[in-house]
Amino acid sequence: MQNASSVLFDTIAFVGVGLIGGSMARDIRAAGLARHLVGYARRAETREAIEQLGLVDHVVSSLAEAVEQADLVVLCVPVGSMGQVAQDIAEHLKPGAVITDVGSVKRQVLRDLRAHLKPENPIIGGHPLAGTEHSGPSAALIGLFKHRWCVLTPEADTSIVALDKVRQLWEALGSHVEVMDAEHHDKVLAITSHLPHLIAYCIVHTATGLEAQTQEEVIKFSASGFRDFTRIAASDPVMWRDIFLNNKDAVLEMLQRFSEDLTALQRSIRYGEGENLQQVFTETRAVRRSIQDAGQAGTFDAREPEAMPLSLLAPYASD
Ligand code: NAP
Repeated sequence: MQNASSVLFDTIAFVGVGLIGGSMARDIRAAGLARHLVGYARRAETREAIEQLGLVDHVVSSLAEAVEQADLVVLCVPVGSMGQVAQDIAEHLKPGAVITDVGSVKRQVLRDLRAHLKPENPIIGGHPLAGTEHSGPSAALIGLFKHRWCVLTPEADTSIVALDKVRQLWEALGSHVEVMDAEHHDKVLAITSHLPHLIAYCIVHTATGLEAQTQEEVIKFSASGFRDFTRIAASDPVMWRDIFLNNKDAVLEMLQRFSEDLTALQRSIRYGEGENLQQVFTETRAVRRSIQDAGQAGTFDAREPEAMPLSLLAPYASD
């Protein structure tokens, strides 16, 4: 039930009602932040699940129908599909309807959206730094965004009024909002989220290849370090394919730095430079403590490592 003072938008349309769209819809509904929620899904199976879970008021199979009454449209599809969706909704939007998204990459998404949407529709890029490795409407969680960062990346000439309303929405979901340039966002996320996922995918891939070749019992006896990687490497393959393809430059830059640091550690192991290894591991332990002190260590078991406080990343983010 909404009370008049909590309503921020009359109608909000979600294009994609999976983990992120579904979690937003749940909390928006519970807090009465909109009068009417519409959800679009491509597949009949997904639409059924959304209806059964009661995530929105009205589930539709037509993009036009989803967005035509909306004051806010939230795009919650994989990053590589944003441009196509923008093209398909452009002619059906109300003049002045605000468009936002939750994609994990911002520069390319903003370009793809602006290429199709009319100037009269403000675009506020968004990225909640919260999630799990699960997908689809049944993965939607209550309170997923509470005490988590949400980065907003408006265009240079975005209306302050539109930005402010999207900010208020995220704050009402319990997020801490940081406004930044899309390129800066992509650099920061390349090291805090994209590279860790790439490393996890690679380690699990290497281990399973080894097991297949040598019949060694890698999976059976996997210790906690490897198990943690398998959780991250279970993340949605389409979503992560799109992230790497759309944040290519920043990921390759961070990968280069990582490879250099890895080579240095390899050298220390080879030449028995224990002091150096110990010093590096002591510094990294301090990073973990700072994350815990900042209350960002995660309360859900399965939160993804997107939750690192932005302040810790200044050395990476400034160059
Ligand atoms: P998800 O649970 O898989 O949900 C995505 C939904 O989008 C699916 O229900 C799917 O519906 C729909 N969809 C997929 N491709 C589509 C297309 N081409 N056209 C229209 N609908 C399409 O994914 P998610 O985890 O919520 O991720 C959504 C976005 O949030 C991504 O851009 C991702 O980068 C971002 N994000 C994810 C996380 C995370 O931890 N997962 C965190 C922050 C941000 P159908 O079943 O009908 O195909």
